[in-house]
Amino acid sequence: MVFTKVSEKVYTIIGPPAYANITAFLLPGQAVLADCGLQLPAVTEVKRALEVISNVQIRTVILTHFHSDHTRALPAFADCRIISSPSMLTNLRLSGRKPPEGYQLTLPNEVFADRLEIQDGDARIIVKHTGGHTDGSTYIYSPEHGVVAAGDNLWINYYPWGGAKNGDPDLWIQALEEYLSLNVEHFIPGHGPVGTKENVLELLTYIKNVREAMIEAIALGKSEEEVIRAGDEVEYYTSGIAKSSTLRKWQKIWCERAEIM
Ligand SMILES: [Zn+2]
Repeated sequence: MVFTKVSEKVYTIIGPPAYANITAFLLPGQAVLADCGLQLPAVTEVKRALEVISNVQIRTVILTHFHSDHTRALPAFADCRIISSPSMLTNLRLSGRKPPEGYQLTLPNEVFADRLEIQDGDARIIVKHTGGHTDGSTYIYSPEHGVVAAGDNLWINYYPWGGAKNGDPDLWIQALEEYLSLNVEHFIPGHGPVGTKENVLELLTYIKNVREAMIEAIALGKSEEEVIRAGDEVEYYTSGIAKSSTLRKWQKIWCERAEIM
């Protein structure tokens, strides 16, 4: 199993077999996971390997958002404290998720409103609900080690998929600004390698530039397709199949907001 050591007490598994990144914060009395990945057999193996390396048990899983690449392996952690924002739990319930064969449906067993702290000895984990990529999007922050696990509010070497039905690019911008205000060196995205503030700033600048280009086109009375094209002309270092559904969704949101203003 390929664990990347992010800092003294933080490990992450990038990409397969989990698909979305899984991060482990090792506290004195337990390991806390940020997200749990997609493939149950592989993730069960991850759990075992991590407990051997760390000498502590995984007792808590915190979910950044409900998408299945981050949550489908939850039944491997049925005996843990599973924490999410209330809207994440609602999304998961509404998604009609079926458990993998032979397993019981496992859902978060604890929700928090905006902010939650876990204190274990002198170690502390802060969990914040911001919205952005989805309305339930949450990040997990270790002030001690200067690490944030951002879930899909941060993508590195991937185009940031913003097409989720309950996503909000304005809240996404706010969340990225909040990350930059923290004393953090290592940012773990939902997909891609561990990055720095520069990667956060790159994504923030891109979303802001698309926003500016689209809002200007909307103000000029351009058609839907022209507004999308204005956003499409904003350059970014990576593109991909997620780009067109993302721009379409953002155009819709900013158009609705322009009508209200
Ligand atoms: Zn994802």
